[in-house]
Amino acid sequence: MEFNESFYRPSLIHLAFDKKKLYEFQVAHARFDLLIKALLRLYGGELFSDFTPISESQIALMVKQPIGSVKLELDQLHNLQVVVYEPVNESPKITLVLARQDADRLPIDKQEFKRRRDLHLTKMEAMKNYAEQTHRCRMQLIQEYFDEETYQTCGLCDVCIEKRRKENLTVLKDYEQQVIYLLNKKNMTVEELEAAVDPAEKELFIDVVREMVDANQIAYDEFWVLRVVK
Ligand SMILES: [Zn+2]
Repeated sequence: MEFNESFYRPSLIHLAFDKKKLYEFQVAHARFDLLIKALLRLYGGELFSDFTPISESQIALMVKQPIGSVKLELDQLHNLQVVVYEPVNESPKITLVLARQDADRLPIDKQEFKRRRDLHLTKMEAMKNYAEQTHRCRMQLIQEYFDEETYQTCGLCDVCIEKRRKENLTVLKDYEQQVIYLLNKKNMTVEELEAAVDPAEKELFIDVVREMVDANQIAYDEFWVLRVVK
């Protein structure tokens, strides 16, 4: 394709009738008489043999009519097939450099086309799966997509965070039950309780005790010994 932004050519006109036919036409269509005479006076006999550049404004001056009606009459003459009128063209122009092809005869490599289509579909499917699934670490999935298999989870993605929250919840419940069980048998200080439970996650255990005190499930006496609130 060629794109020509500054394309300009003047209006062209070619008289399709010979002199005799034109005279007959002028007699039969008096309203075009003035215009045809002006054309012949301005551009002469060349009109009969070639496409001739014309200026509508020049014609308008000669026939003493607005340029709009000159253009309109030229269009009418064109439609009556007296002249071939190609109005001025000032808009950008696209030229097809190669001959047009039938759509079903386009030189397309169908196998290659299908391969690329399938590849795109596979990519899209992988993207969809990545977004929709909620059980595999997202970082693992991405690495797997690029053929880098790993057993390590990232610990940062939403799947990892949700998994840890659920695990914590289980541990939390477990600590809670142990605290109640132990304190039901015997009142203890936090240190004694911690020693008895021996939690793998000490901070989480302290949080659990604190929350149970806040919820008034257990309480300190004046010697900082914990007991179950009945
Ligand atoms: Zn993760």
